[in-house]
Amino acid sequence: MSPAIRNDPATGRKLFATRAAKASGKISGKGYSIIADKALTTLPPPPPGAAFNAEEQRRYREYKEARVGAADYMAMEGDFARYLEDVYSASPVPREPLEDECEILVIGAGFGALLLWYRLMQAGFTDVRFCEKGGDVGGTWYWNRYPGIACDVESYSYLPLLEEMGHIPSMKFASGFEILEYCQKMAERFGFYDRSLFHTTVEETAWDEATGRWIVRTDRGDAMRARFVVLANGILTTPRLARIKGMKTFRGDAFHTSRWNYNIDLIDKRVGIIGTGATAVQVVPEIAKVVGALYVFQRTPSSIDVRDQRETTPAEYASWPHEPNWAVNRRERHALISAGRSALQANDDFLSGKIVDWKERKKHDRKLTPKEMIEVQLSTNFRIMEQIRSRVDAIVKDPKTAAALKPYYPYGCKRPTFHDEYLPTFNLAHVHLIDCAPSGVKKINERGVVHDGVEYPLDVLIYATGFEWMGTGTFNMIRGRDGRTLREKWEAEGTRTFLGMHSRGFPNLFIMNGPQGGGGQFNFTRVSEMHANYVVWALDMMRTKNVRSIDVTREAEDEYTRHCAEMDLLSAPLRDCISYYNGEGKAQPGSLAYYGGGERWHQRRIAAQEKMAPYIIDNKLGVEPHAEHR
Ligand code: NDP
Repeated sequence: MSPAIRNDPATGRKLFATRAAKASGKISGKGYSIIADKALTTLPPPPPGAAFNAEEQRRYREYKEARVGAADYMAMEGDFARYLEDVYSASPVPREPLEDECEILVIGAGFGALLLWYRLMQAGFTDVRFCEKGGDVGGTWYWNRYPGIACDVESYSYLPLLEEMGHIPSMKFASGFEILEYCQKMAERFGFYDRSLFHTTVEETAWDEATGRWIVRTDRGDAMRARFVVLANGILTTPRLARIKGMKTFRGDAFHTSRWNYNIDLIDKRVGIIGTGATAVQVVPEIAKVVGALYVFQRTPSSIDVRDQRETTPAEYASWPHEPNWAVNRRERHALISAGRSALQANDDFLSGKIVDWKERKKHDRKLTPKEMIEVQLSTNFRIMEQIRSRVDAIVKDPKTAAALKPYYPYGCKRPTFHDEYLPTFNLAHVHLIDCAPSGVKKINERGVVHDGVEYPLDVLIYATGFEWMGTGTFNMIRGRDGRTLREKWEAEGTRTFLGMHSRGFPNLFIMNGPQGGGGQFNFTRVSEMHANYVVWALDMMRTKNVRSIDVTREAEDEYTRHCAEMDLLSAPLRDCISYYNGEGKAQPGSLAYYGGGERWHQRRIAAQEKMAPYIIDNKLGVEPHAEHR
């Protein structure tokens, strides 16, 4: 056996040492700065009398219609496959292929997998193996290491297992580099590395009815068997490029933000960045500090809300460790706000700029119908957007640039962003906003980007063009009972799941954070926790009942899928724009994230767990129960 694989003398199981070394010492950085200028960290009040009237609604509609059909993305294949290379780690650790069996095989080694491992350990499941494409843990935080990266959900509520780790993040919005280190510490502390196969991409996962096992094949030649497979590989994992004429001809350096190439020096260079989503909003202020000239190619402006970054205070460092479950409780308060209720009594400073509006919104003298509720929300939403637009005028000096930076769509229908340095960056003489609305950049040549007949020569071109949403490549290669892949099933029948966790015909497969499972929550860590707890409940129930396989009924899947569509349609006016959230305007209602569901997910989960009606549990496969549970 290679040194990467050894046998645990206590259990006889294989343990691994496949964590790759760091590729280069240059890969480091920080997230948001703390801004001294208080004017930049507060939203201006909404203009007096601001109302979402017919005129404003028409304006939103025109804005949306102008954007229809503009999105054109492509996978990083052929000449562009090099943009996918792992620039962060040294070569994969050599090891021989594995053809053995484990009880639970998890795809992914990010937050979801780390949380799941912790919960599985607690429940006594230890025969667990993780397959991860990257060279180390972290998932999103492994791949995304661009300058300025930080979490957009306050880190005290976002980082998992803070109490268990005895850790308090250093900033309210911790940098991505701090989060990655935290993931590594969790992995070290909880023995996660011993169970992980890094630089191992799962290529096929096929259900074998005869043995009641999944056969998992990887790009390292493995053909492992597992009773259970858990997909914990994220929802925004496959980077995409805008398809732009001539992009192959560009002679300068180019890369995608999720593979930031720190070997390319940006100092004093002419740099272009395509895209102005949540990533670019963090990148732009940071690289503007070093480049010679920066051209930001914008198709649709993001809403740039207040950040108000701060350090963790000495009082918090001192008191939180003595508050039982301080982070779990804080996360729950945060979830109340994301579910539309307040965490104000807890005196937390969430969503600083919007609390005043929230209070106004709550003053109703009778219970509103869902339609009335949406109307009230749209009005509140409009006032928040007016504040966001006023903020642009208050900060950005050039009126033409300010006009282009103002978004006209409901708050939240595109991923809201938060930054106190982004807008002021456009007052710098060497930073240029190139407004490419509504069609986006259409032409690149060997020297740079061409827009409206003007050529912008560049040394470096950065694609901040995002990721496939809810469309991980993994779905292409999970083959269920009837030989179809999950993707083929969903293409033929529409996305169909129960709780977003199961899809009928794929027994003993659990999907974490997938379509219809999460979303509609600011904080995906909370969704990961819900899902990890659910997986552990299911495995524990099966262990207790000595069950060999679990699937769901057609009725349960139909009902849940209908519910997702209804919730999506009901809340759709709040997301009435074109964005990746709604598949660029093309997705079937309820087929992507689980919008507007909130507590209803829990109601369905609890009913299912109590009555067991949605499940098909099978004791009759021609296989023995797993040795550990005989
Ligand atoms: P997005 O998909 O949000 O943004 C892609 C950008 O590329 C959009 O602005 C899009 O414009 C633009 N674009 C695409 N094609 C063209 C073109 N031809 N010309 C000009 N512009 C073009 O990707 P991001 O990487 O920014 O963010 C993805 C998600 O990752 C976020 O929404 C968020 O969920 C997550 N994220 C989280 C962070 C955090 O928590 N800290 C930080 C960063 C990202 P258009 O809007 O018109 O489609």
